[in-house]
Parts: sequence; C-alpha cells; structure tokens
Amino acid sequence: MTQSMAVAFFCFYAELNDFLPRHKKQVKISHFFEDRASIKDMIESLGIPHPEVDCLEVNGQYVNFSYIVQDKDSINVYPISAMGATTPSISVRPEPLSLMRFVLDIHLGKLATSLRLLGFDTLYRNDYEDQELAQISSSQTRILLTRDKGLLMRSLVTHGYYVRSTQPQQQIVEVLRRFDLFKLVSPFQRCLRCNGLLESVAKESIIDQIPETVQLQTHEFHRCQDCAQIYWKGSHYERLQQFINVIMERG
Ligand SMILES: [Zn+2]
Repeated sequence: MTQSMAVAFFCFYAELNDFLPRHKKQVKISHFFEDRASIKDMIESLGIPHPEVDCLEVNGQYVNFSYIVQDKDSINVYPISAMGATTPSISVRPEPLSLMRFVLDIHLGKLATSLRLLGFDTLYRNDYEDQELAQISSSQTRILLTRDKGLLMRSLVTHGYYVRSTQPQQQIVEVLRRFDLFKLVSPFQRCLRCNGLLESVAKESIIDQIPETVQLQTHEFHRCQDCAQIYWKGSHYERLQQFINVIMERG
C-alpha cells in the first residue's frame, strides 16, 4: 500500500449483500482507494448497481450519489426494499412512478410473458441491445428488469431492478413482491405476443380465422389491437388461470 491510499469503511444492508462475494457479505468492508470518486462510482465498483440503493449514510449524515468519498469515511448503504419506504428527504431513489411499466432484458422472456398475462405493460424483444434497453427505460420511464448488473449500472438507468431468481415462476412472484403489484394484477388484458391491449370482438367478424371446433363451442373472443392475434377461452385458458392462481396465493 502506498502512502497516498485512503480507506473507506462500507456496510451494505439486507438485499444489497446479494451482490457481494461471500467473504464480503454482512461484514464491514475496508475499501482502499487512491483516486477521488463519488460514492455512486465507489459502491458500483464494489458490485452494487445504483438503482438498488435507497439511502446513503456517511458518518451519520445522509448524502446523495454525488458525494465525494473522504479518507476514513464510515458508510452505510441501505437497499430499496418492498418493506416500507424511507423518508423521501433522505432517500437517493428516484421519484416513484405513477404507472408501473417495464422493459426486460433478453434473458427474461418468460417473465415478460407472465407480466403481460397479469396485465402489466411490458416491453420485451430478444434482440434489444443494452444501450437500447437503457434508453427505453430512461425515455419512457419504464422499470428495467434485468439479470445483468452491468446494464443496471449505466447512468441512464434510474428505475431498475436485478432479478435474483433464475426460475420464471419465482421471478414473477419476486417482481410482484418487490414492486407491490399483487393488488394491481388484472389478467387477460394484454397480448402475450406483443404487449398490445385486447378488445372484445364479435365472432362473425373473425369467424374465418378460428378453427371449426372453436366456432361451435366458443362465443367470446378478444383481439389484440396491435397485432390482431385472436384469443378465446380454450384449454390453454384453464392452464393459465391455474398458473395465475398459484402466483396470487403467494401474494
Ligand atoms: Zn399482439
């Protein structure tokens, strides 16, 4: 260690430990540094994406992301959590969104379908570039859901969340809990393919687009306003309803 090295002591709380290697979890971390850096850059260099942070406390005082870390600072970092909000005046988190809308990275296709099924406005394509995802999240104020910590660390991203689970069914429960969405669930309102809103449509007007057996047995139809996909309550519907029930029971 050179003489010019300074040190800051970090404590990361609760879910923020998910981003730390095992030997750094739940302990005070001594972080040595030479170059002048903001607290935001320093916590990201330790692996914590800034959209996951709610409060920053330095030597007992709350600071914002632009605070320049000083030698021997003692720093507590608290996560945004589903368990109640912090006093807005001390929080570094962005303004809460009035509309909960999402954009998802390419690893989260199944989660995107589940969010659409439950009625949430969810953009997803399997060819979105990282820059595009950050841009969409920023310009349309959509919450970026991702399995890529680096993407979440881009400065454009203010509203984002690192999805912990790799299991699609756990992922949807995790996201509903994290954003307190169970009470906003409104299933079968959106196209699972393209996110468009569904409208009810008369059978006569689409009769040539549905199989004969369905023509006889089914009377209620919906059509996507964007891609024109037709939906009806077939055998698939019961399976989806069951899937929704299982998820809602965990709310
Ligand atoms: Zn559609």
